[in-house]
Amino acid sequence: MAWDNFKRITFRKKKDTPGGLWMKCDGCGAMVYKKRVEEKLHVCPECNFHFAISSKNRIKFLLDTDSLEETHADMAPCDPLKFTGNTPYVERLAKAQKHTGLKDAAIVGRARIKGREIAFGVTDSRFLMGSMGSVVGEKISRIAEYATEERLPLIIVSGSGGGARMDEGMISLMQMAKTSAAIGRYKKSGGLFISILTNPTMGGAMASFAALGDIIVAEPKALIGFAGPRVYQSTVRGGKLPPGFQRSEYMLEHGFVDMIVSRTEMRDVFYNLMDYCDINRKKTPAAAEAAKNATRPGKHCHAHEMQRVPARF
Ligand SMILES: [Zn+2]
Repeated sequence: MAWDNFKRITFRKKKDTPGGLWMKCDGCGAMVYKKRVEEKLHVCPECNFHFAISSKNRIKFLLDTDSLEETHADMAPCDPLKFTGNTPYVERLAKAQKHTGLKDAAIVGRARIKGREIAFGVTDSRFLMGSMGSVVGEKISRIAEYATEERLPLIIVSGSGGGARMDEGMISLMQMAKTSAAIGRYKKSGGLFISILTNPTMGGAMASFAALGDIIVAEPKALIGFAGPRVYQSTVRGGKLPPGFQRSEYMLEHGFVDMIVSRTEMRDVFYNLMDYCDINRKKTPAAAEAAKNATRPGKHCHAHEMQRVPARF
């Protein structure tokens, strides 16, 4: 009888551990209750580690319910170089498309946050590490152009650890200039661009649109940079990289990131930022002229002036 009870207890314990109700946190190593993590928008309740999430969940957590009107959804990549590495590019694409249900790594469109209209973009790290090929670059450029035409705030969430997509060679590198130019034109028109960096945002994405936010927001402990820490380590012969190198907190301390915001607070923070900058107002020609001539900081000041205090550099 006693032996039977022992067997039953052992069985239950195994069933409820990994793969079931509990999961291991990559941040603190603790076993955490999966449902609790999901309730906190996939954030560890013990250490605030932000788990990677799909673009679908990002949209669900950040935007008003069903508010996204996706544009350019049918845009799909081609294989201009007929590239074959260890695995041919077309095969890698097909696998990523099947795995994610996406045609490429970016989703863009018009949406709302707490009722406020925005132009929105997100890259999905599950799709070839969110790398920027011709489709991602084109979609980011088009949503920036749309935001310019419609005078909307632009919010782009980057989950692009893969940087530029080298399977597309020079064409992927051109996306850096193209997205930067589109965002440059948007900024000249007086738009507000909030760039959100999630774990990880690296390479060509970081070296172009992701770094161009008027306000750059990072999720806690995200890896942010151009090349990864291992590459840098190999260049500082014998030296050691500083603790926390390339993490959000390090980047905030060194002035590259403006704010670190938890996933659970992003909606409120972005709403307040947009409200403060008031870019979304319907401008009459007279109001536009008044904003141009305004000298005191406040409602009409550009976010760039608000955030980039010279002392921080
Ligand atoms: Zn944790």
